[in-house]
Amino acid sequence: MILTVTMNPSVDISYPLEKFNLDTVNRVVEVSKTPGGKGLNVTRVLKQLNDEVVATGLIGGALGTDIQKKLSEIGIKNDFFEISGETRNCIAILHEGNQTEILEKGPTITKSESEDFLRHFEKLVKDEETKIIAISGSLPDGLEIDYYSKMIGICEKYKKPVVLDCSGKSLLEVLKNEHKPKVIKPNTEELAQLIGKDVSKDPNELKEILKEKLFEKIEWIIVSLGADGAFAKHNDKFYKVNVPSIKVVNPVGSGDSTVAGITSAIHENANDEDLLRKANVLGMLNAMENLTGFVNLKNYEELFIKIEIINL
Ligand code: ATP
Repeated sequence: MILTVTMNPSVDISYPLEKFNLDTVNRVVEVSKTPGGKGLNVTRVLKQLNDEVVATGLIGGALGTDIQKKLSEIGIKNDFFEISGETRNCIAILHEGNQTEILEKGPTITKSESEDFLRHFEKLVKDEETKIIAISGSLPDGLEIDYYSKMIGICEKYKKPVVLDCSGKSLLEVLKNEHKPKVIKPNTEELAQLIGKDVSKDPNELKEILKEKLFEKIEWIIVSLGADGAFAKHNDKFYKVNVPSIKVVNPVGSGDSTVAGITSAIHENANDEDLLRKANVLGMLNAMENLTGFVNLKNYEELFIKIEIINL
């Protein structure tokens, strides 16, 4: 079983409008409200792959209850920890080919909730059914910056691998900490934030960057490059992944789909090539759809064989 973690989930509201009028009333006909947050996107893709998955994280208030209900309705097992604060809404206004987003910050977590969640998490990690943990997204206010390191420490205690997809200070803190995830999946922007300078998509430059001390002891580093595929380091092996060109509809969430592919491949003990293929095919399949965290697996095999993996 795969355990996914979403520490600051949301109800994602989409408002499609022909025209977005400022400073007046806009009426929306087709509203969609879905459970959101990067970890829940990962969860949905894993469910589509028929992997056994349980979603956890922090949840609160009426919107939290709504998320649990909607996940259960689509057959996604979940075991969230309830907090006193309210789970947030995130609004995307789709208008004239643009996407204007209004993102609530979400609840502030109290000290006792922060400690109690670690106990809840440990119980789930300890379960012998749990084989791997995928942690995605930002930390809500109130949790200390090394919170993910604490969670990874718990996974290490039970020898369970972690795929981590976060950015900024919380990722930097993890890289500096003694407890290491098995995989990280930054994009080039996130990599640039980490090392404090611009990063190109040049494989030779990426190879030098990933050899830096900061990345020591992380078994897999997979840098996703959008339409340029990915660059990966697995221990001392380096790979460039080239992907075919596709008809892109909405690439938001492609990184989350990629994380689902990585986690699923590790769960089934795939070799390096198959892991990289699965990760990139799922990223592409997400980009080809309108919905975030949704893939049409009908095109899986066709794309799988078109991916080129080069050993560097
Ligand atoms: P997000 O934050 O929106 O989830 P990301 O920046 O983390 O995305 P990307 O690098 O954009 O992740 O995409 C992940 C993977 O999806 C890529 O490695 C690639 O395999 C696939 N992908 C994304 N966009 C495209 C595209 N335009 N053409 C082909 N493949 C794509």
